[in-house]
Amino acid sequence: MPGKVWLVGAGPGDPGLLTLKGARALAQCDVLVYDYLASAAIVALARPGCERIYVGKKAGEHTLSQDEITALIVELGRGGKKVVRLKGGDVFVFARGGEEARALAEAGVPFEIVPGITSAIAAPAYAGIPVTHRAHNTAFTVVTGHEDPAKGASSLDFAKLANRKATTIFLMAMGNLAAIVAELQRHGLEDDTPVAIVHEGTKPAQEVLVATIGTVIGEVARSGITAPAVVVVGDVVREREHIRWFDAQPLFGKRVLVTRPAHQSDDVAMLLWEAGAEPILAPTIAIGPPDDLTAARDAATRVRDYAWVVFTSRNGVDAFFDRLGELGRDARAFGDVRIAAIGPKTAAALACRGIRVDLIPATFVNEAVAAALLTRTAPGERILVYRAQEARDVLPQTLREHGRAVDVVAAYATRFVDDPELAAKARRADIVTFTSSSTVHGFVHNVADAAHVLSATTVAAIGPITAQTARDAGIRVDVVADEFTVEGLVRALTVPAA
Ligand code: SAH
Repeated sequence: MPGKVWLVGAGPGDPGLLTLKGARALAQCDVLVYDYLASAAIVALARPGCERIYVGKKAGEHTLSQDEITALIVELGRGGKKVVRLKGGDVFVFARGGEEARALAEAGVPFEIVPGITSAIAAPAYAGIPVTHRAHNTAFTVVTGHEDPAKGASSLDFAKLANRKATTIFLMAMGNLAAIVAELQRHGLEDDTPVAIVHEGTKPAQEVLVATIGTVIGEVARSGITAPAVVVVGDVVREREHIRWFDAQPLFGKRVLVTRPAHQSDDVAMLLWEAGAEPILAPTIAIGPPDDLTAARDAATRVRDYAWVVFTSRNGVDAFFDRLGELGRDARAFGDVRIAAIGPKTAAALACRGIRVDLIPATFVNEAVAAALLTRTAPGERILVYRAQEARDVLPQTLREHGRAVDVVAAYATRFVDDPELAAKARRADIVTFTSSSTVHGFVHNVADAAHVLSATTVAAIGPITAQTARDAGIRVDVVADEFTVEGLVRALTVPAA
């Protein structure tokens, strides 16, 4: 079986800008060959068992030469591997994808090109600069600034580029910026022509400098802005005043520590990226089977003995269906047993299994589930609570006090994750999030002096119970969500503190 090579454009940095086709290729590859400009969140999408080969060039130190990289992907493809060659931005925009594709074609290795969103367009867009705009221009040109025009051998036509009504976008231009600006001026470009420099565009580290041809060199020296950057020259730059958006978001540039289990961190991470923040994934707990699975199995077998089943997390739902699966059964096991979910995420996990819940309380805490269930059940009725091994007793206790027959079953256990780097990660963060009491316990497990480590960090909790757990551990809490979901938490972070 011959292999296949996908040349995939990773986009400019924001992982949300990877194409669906690129994500599909990553999800099934045997080998990933990637370089410096590909973002870590995208590299993480590669199939778990996939071999990852870093061939990046960083600060002039080349890991592999271009010829060696080309030879490598040809060899891997010939050897029957499914290879993703991931490149920053688009594969054909100043990325030597053309050479790699040609080598594959000549070697008879099947390949596909998956274009990416180029930084030439996306970095200006995230700076609020449209590359064309009816009021300003009818064309844009993307050029390399890698050649030094002062050396006289430049193939760039500066007479054409020196036109404020036709946007010029330079990549790789920071090293030669002074010579480029001088050459544009020599060809008559007016000193008041707007220039923008977009450093690390589309990322939380994005920096934008707006100046003019006359002032830009001084401004660059003053601000210290560096590569990687896209330089935009032309009147379209003025639109930024009106449509600046990405770096105006409240969470822009903030580093946010995410402590929840790894298998649940994707949705929070994506919400944070969308808000312009940088998630730092640092799971402090992991979900696994409880110490003894017998009760969880029995409950799944006899689920129809109950009037109601209560799920207090998505993990409980997953565990229940794992047990049902082991029994060779499916959602039909519930018959007409009624089902309560603590909140929308748990209900959504049930909906994925084809189950509509009968009850979600108005607030997503155990107390509210208990109160709602009391109005819907009679004394003596049997209720199954399928939940974490270590959980608060308020739900079963309240129900029992009112004469309900409650079975509490340990569906899964949360275990602490050992992370010797956690204190360092927390110190790097502007905001630390706790999405359950267990995440707080897991944090303190790793960081004994948590109160001290977090003294200058914004601490955000998903709800009042989690906040209290943090306070009990001596941790000051600054933000508490009023809807107890990760969306609610991110929303609470984006409104200015009262
Ligand atoms: N194929 C890439 C370009 C590779 S050349 C693309 O289509 O985007 C590398 C240059 O791209 C850098 O020197 C810089 O000018 C630009 N670049 C890439 N990513 C960038 C980003 N996120 N922000 C600003 N410039 C970027």
